[in-house]
Amino acid sequence: MSDALHDLTVAQLAARLKSRDVSADEVARHFLARSQAASDLGAYLALDEEATLAQARAADALLTAGNAPALAGVPIAHKDIFVTRDFATTAGSKMLEAYRSPFDATVVHRLAEAGMVTLGKLNCDEFAMGSGNENSAYGVARNPWDAVRVPGGSSGGSAAAVAGRLAPAATGTDTGGSIRQPASFCGITGIKPTYGRASRYGMVAFASSLDQAGPMARTAEDCALLLSAICGPDPDRDSTSLDVPAEDFTRGLTGDLTGLRIGLPTEFFGGGLNGDVRAAIDGALAELRQLGATVVDISLPRTRMAIPVYYVLAAAEASSNLSRFDGVKFGYRAPDYTDLEDMYKKTRAQGFGDEVQRRIMTGAYVLSHGYYDAYYLQAQKVRRLIAQDFQRAFEQCDVIAGPVAPSVAWGIGAHGDDPLADYLADIYTLPASLAGLPGLSVPAGFGEGGMPVGLQLIGNYLQEGRLLNVAHRLQQATDFHQRRPPGA
Ligand code: GLN
Repeated sequence: MSDALHDLTVAQLAARLKSRDVSADEVARHFLARSQAASDLGAYLALDEEATLAQARAADALLTAGNAPALAGVPIAHKDIFVTRDFATTAGSKMLEAYRSPFDATVVHRLAEAGMVTLGKLNCDEFAMGSGNENSAYGVARNPWDAVRVPGGSSGGSAAAVAGRLAPAATGTDTGGSIRQPASFCGITGIKPTYGRASRYGMVAFASSLDQAGPMARTAEDCALLLSAICGPDPDRDSTSLDVPAEDFTRGLTGDLTGLRIGLPTEFFGGGLNGDVRAAIDGALAELRQLGATVVDISLPRTRMAIPVYYVLAAAEASSNLSRFDGVKFGYRAPDYTDLEDMYKKTRAQGFGDEVQRRIMTGAYVLSHGYYDAYYLQAQKVRRLIAQDFQRAFEQCDVIAGPVAPSVAWGIGAHGDDPLADYLADIYTLPASLAGLPGLSVPAGFGEGGMPVGLQLIGNYLQEGRLLNVAHRLQQATDFHQRRPPGA
């Protein structure tokens, strides 16, 4: 690995900053310059040099005084779904064009408390609805490994920025796969914690019973550092945040896999999985076996149902959450209208993109009288069964492994006007989301066109440490996470 600042991991940057080898100002300027130069990637929606450098100065003051927190001066960029005081927040939507929050999301606040410096806000699918970052109102983000392909979604800007070395780390959110899938598509590491581990306060809501924040970085060690800062109860602000104390996830990175039982769900290795992805996953599993793990076949029999269940429930929750965007309280309002109802209609028709409108209509439909029992209630019941399937599986294994997505990143525009093509590609990430389980994607190799492939690891509730340890051990034995996209 070269010595350039952008090649350093979060852990390495923190150490260099602590030793005063470099200043936070220098580091921030370096990443800002790279980010500005790489505007073709479409990773950033907002950069504000002044705001970033002010944060860097504050970090330098703490570092000089010798009482700086763990990650002082290390830059991070945030998915534009987290509200921030210093930067506009759009959630990838015209509805929130130039919206300024009066407060920081808890996740943003906690990372700032850890000393991190915000580089800017990152592109994402509108209200985090999508699988390729093609639903952003502000244009596509591109995959640094191949600029004509999607970086994945909805945290596409986050993955592109980290893979393209425009930021050492980024935040993402995962409702049905949006941390794991873009991490896989861009060859980086990302973890979605157990539902409730990270506070949702200040995350623009999509599907509240599923939304979770998590870190995206190049290594599992970096993800452990960031997750330690992010997690912990936030009872006054998010009533669904778990009453589980924050922990130092780096302590669990022992690299010891002895006795680890890895479960492989038969349903994750069926006909829909592309051969190149399968080969990379098999390679990573062989490596883990060599490192001391054993592999057992398990079954998650309702995997197939995860797609309809998720797209009923997520749409239902979205239709309710997004009712707040009515032209009165937040953001966009249609310029011309005749009366109040006309204002609502025009505002929502003009402010929301196609996919968001599709979800709102689907959601309103499945929640409506006469259809509620047939769709919403049924989906809730099957969701419970999916969660039970996992508990049965965890009687036989400690972690579950499989692909993140059936293919490598597809071409921009390849799914055209077919939303189902996007939905179907979520098959392997949705089950853990519906069960509220932690899931991670770690670079496992390369597939078609030299594109990265991620291995998904799913753990039982609160087993983030175990997932990170497996990923960390794999990264000690392989160098997939160190390979760089062309030009980065
Ligand atoms: N692709 C899924 C969707 O469009 C998941 C998105 C997410 O996790 N935010 O809903």
